[in-house]
Amino acid sequence: MDTFDLIILGGGAAGLMCAASAPKKIKTLIIEANPTLGRKIQISGGGKANITNQFISTKFYRGDSSFIAPSLKNFTCKDSLDFFNGIGLEQRDKGKLFGKKSAQEFIDRLIDRIDTKDILLNTTITDVSFKDGYFLLDSLNKSFTCKRLVVATGSLAWPKAGAKESGYLIAKSFGHKVISPSPALVPLTLQPSEFWMKSLSGISFEVAAKLLDRSFCDWLLFSHRGLSGPLIMDLSLFWQKGLVSFDFWPRGSVKRVLQTKSKKLISSSIPLPKRFVKSFLNAVGLEDKPINRLTCKEEKILQKLHNYTFAPAGTLGFVKAEVCKGGISTDEIDSKTMQSKLQKGLYFIGEVLDVTGCLGGYNLHWAFASARQCAKNLG
Ligand SMILES: Cc1cc2nc3c(=O)[nH]c(=O)nc-3n(C[C@H](O)[C@H](O)[C@H](O)COP(=O)(O)OP(=O)(O)OC[C@H]3O[C@@H](n4cnc5c(N)ncnc54)[C@H](O)[C@@H]3O)c2cc1C
Repeated sequence: MDTFDLIILGGGAAGLMCAASAPKKIKTLIIEANPTLGRKIQISGGGKANITNQFISTKFYRGDSSFIAPSLKNFTCKDSLDFFNGIGLEQRDKGKLFGKKSAQEFIDRLIDRIDTKDILLNTTITDVSFKDGYFLLDSLNKSFTCKRLVVATGSLAWPKAGAKESGYLIAKSFGHKVISPSPALVPLTLQPSEFWMKSLSGISFEVAAKLLDRSFCDWLLFSHRGLSGPLIMDLSLFWQKGLVSFDFWPRGSVKRVLQTKSKKLISSSIPLPKRFVKSFLNAVGLEDKPINRLTCKEEKILQKLHNYTFAPAGTLGFVKAEVCKGGISTDEIDSKTMQSKLQKGLYFIGEVLDVTGCLGGYNLHWAFASARQCAKNLG
């Protein structure tokens, strides 16, 4: 049986960064189930990977901010840019930084920093146990032992990229609490009463949303399956069940339009896609008539454009989710080392933990930052 100082389980963003940053004198093995490394990095950001963000801060994460903060302090946006120095980047809205050419460049940079003989592909670990100071890892036809084990197995999101529940099961077997993972950064589906929005498939514009005490403002994309686009992806990180309120015209004012007492039709007075305005009027039971002919009651109904409240039906599930919210509770993990407080020598990093970022490069950044936090203490 092969014995290592350190095994990193999972060759995704977190596992690769941990291997690339761990002291070279440690005899390390990365075990990855997929035939290639960094599968999720490869499909991230539409193939260009939104690798980090200029505004990295705990406020863009769902999770315990006192747990997240030390990793973000130790690995900043600048640290990420230094690590990937030389790879062309493209800056987009809200501080997002994407690769100019392809996400593969980031994977190649990570692999460049790893000794390739330390990598084992096409190998799925099915069981992990601990005996006499060593972890024992079993795959279908081979076993491995190691003194220290880093679990970087990711979440259940996007099964096509090899998502598995292994990390949660390993954590549970060592007594860790797992907050039930559910899909996040995922499109939302609609109740039949809101199917009018489906007919607007392909239309996209800026919308503001309110969910309990949170506010969002970004692009909403209507799709034949429901609602998508960056606004919805971010909202899905915090939505469980219940009401959401949309302001379909956050930079405009229905009140001001009404004050004009214009002879123009509603659909010609509101500068949103006409198809949307007509469907909206139909949904709220308003005739498309001249502004100066609206009754007080109708004027009130039109104000719903700023406050349209409804309950989404659900999400498109793990299959279409970019990440999971929930995961291994961080209460039992040391934020300075990522080591389990329940089992010495066992570490958890990346998305497998109960830390989830907003859309905008925050999740890859978390995978890298938590990996760095772990690696710097592996010496
Ligand atoms: C479509 C899509 C687009 C995204 N775009 C972005 C983006 O632009 N920016 C951003 O910040 N985030 C993005 N994300 C999220 C981001 O990719 C993830 O948060 C990040 O890759 C998580 O890294 P990780 O290393 O924790 O997990 P992963 O990258 O999922 O790596 C875990 C690895 O562990 C392996 N594994 C699991 N169990 C076992 C086992 N038992 N044995 C062996 N191997 C195992 C898996 O095969 C996998 O390769 C996107 C996600 C998706 C799905």
